[in-house]
Amino acid sequence: MSKNLTKREVDYSKWYNELVVKADLAENSAVRGCMVIKPYGYAIWEKMQAELDRMFKETGHENAYFPLFVPKSLFEAEEKNAEGFAKECAVVTHYRLQNDPDKPGKLRVDPTAKLEEELVVRPTSEAIIWNTFKGWIQSYRDLPLLINQWANVVRWEMRTRLFLRTAEFLWQEGHTAHATKKEAITEAELILDVYGEFAEKFMAMPVIKGLKTESERFAGAVETYCIEGLMQDGKALQAGTSHFLGQNFAEAFDVKYTSKEGKQEYVWATSWGVSTRLIGGLIMTHSDDLGLVLPPRLAPIQVVIVPIYKGDEQLAEISSKVDVFIKEFRKLGISVKFDDRDTFRPGAKFAEYELKGVPVRIAIGKRDMENNTVEIARRDTLEKQSVSQDDVVSVVSKLLVEIQDNLFNKAISFRETHTTEVDTFEEFKEAIKTKGGFVSAHWDGTTETEDKIKELTKATIRCIPLKNKIESGTCVFTGKNSSQRVLFAKAY
Ligand code: AMP
Repeated sequence: MSKNLTKREVDYSKWYNELVVKADLAENSAVRGCMVIKPYGYAIWEKMQAELDRMFKETGHENAYFPLFVPKSLFEAEEKNAEGFAKECAVVTHYRLQNDPDKPGKLRVDPTAKLEEELVVRPTSEAIIWNTFKGWIQSYRDLPLLINQWANVVRWEMRTRLFLRTAEFLWQEGHTAHATKKEAITEAELILDVYGEFAEKFMAMPVIKGLKTESERFAGAVETYCIEGLMQDGKALQAGTSHFLGQNFAEAFDVKYTSKEGKQEYVWATSWGVSTRLIGGLIMTHSDDLGLVLPPRLAPIQVVIVPIYKGDEQLAEISSKVDVFIKEFRKLGISVKFDDRDTFRPGAKFAEYELKGVPVRIAIGKRDMENNTVEIARRDTLEKQSVSQDDVVSVVSKLLVEIQDNLFNKAISFRETHTTEVDTFEEFKEAIKTKGGFVSAHWDGTTETEDKIKELTKATIRCIPLKNKIESGTCVFTGKNSSQRVLFAKAY
């Protein structure tokens, strides 16, 4: 495979697929729609997990683990949820294979090993968790119950893309139980803020916080809150969701608590999740035609040091200097790699770390040793500078902060120039067709109109922004009265 990537403006989707594979993040597997996450991609996921996990714990949540399988009878209990996911469920019907009498060397399902009750491979875990919560919640003293699990789920997606949409994906799913409606809504909004902060501070990916319309709402939810990012090709990405579930699951699983007043009340619920899709969002927000561009706060390697030398003696001299830098970087919690492999030339190493999006590269050669300098290159702007060896660590620490900020600012200004307010359907179609991005328009609030617009333009309502100003206008499609604008876009 050639080292060069397809350019984004030539074929964005091809660029993305090639980049994921060439940067060693993930690859397709022998299982339809399921991916292998390679060590470099998994290292990014681990960094994401670590930060999110810290944020969940700081807001009072605890981790637990529930089974992969959900007995069908439990899965059916909350009807809307079951109906919404039914078409994407993998189902276990048997528990044993046997030698196939007709085909030597082959196995078949043992017809005598049929499960009495079929098991659904979880597409989401509300059912099994609420069935469990029934035993955990009796009184108001047991509330709130704030649980998170890190897990894999399976949704039999028809059109899959590495990270963005896979049949099996990794995620975290929060499931909480509360005494009052108000508390549950506050929780759903708190998590939305956590997701927003994570996306912006760590991924350097600006997001719009909003509410989903009825047709995009999670099956079984009363309200779905979401964060929506905008990718470089002008398509939106739903990056995370937080659901206010009302009392739907408490009623379905008969989860009641005794209030302070001694009354039996149904519990209020939320659930929320972000998945390995975030890695797709990270890639598509920042990367360029040379490869990945990773924000320093999530980069598995923040600084790479490449020696440029002839012979062992020069390498030894450079290495002893580099050892000092490495110790200082590590003291500051900066992850650094010294690539002294003699099987690759420096130019090949430079290209590799560009492809892998390492934020800062330090090159150090014979002349640098004589002049007490190093060459520092930043991945985001590709700028290089020569710096005194005495200042390397302080310059690089500042540079990492600067790169993180620069990536966020670039993404914000991209979003600003790719958000268009329109007042007529002609303008709407034009904006979606030529520029892409978010289109802010009045909508009459009906699913019919939303569906028609989708049919005609492929754009969907990404969200009703929480920060919306109330503004009277008329629906771009039907001309009916509307009190606020919503955000449309084509989406992943
Ligand atoms: P949901 O449970 O449908 O609200 O989804 C929770 C999170 O998982 C959202 O951030 C989705 O964007 C993400 N997600 C949903 N389906 C997939 C999929 N097939 N592959 C990767 N991520 C997904």
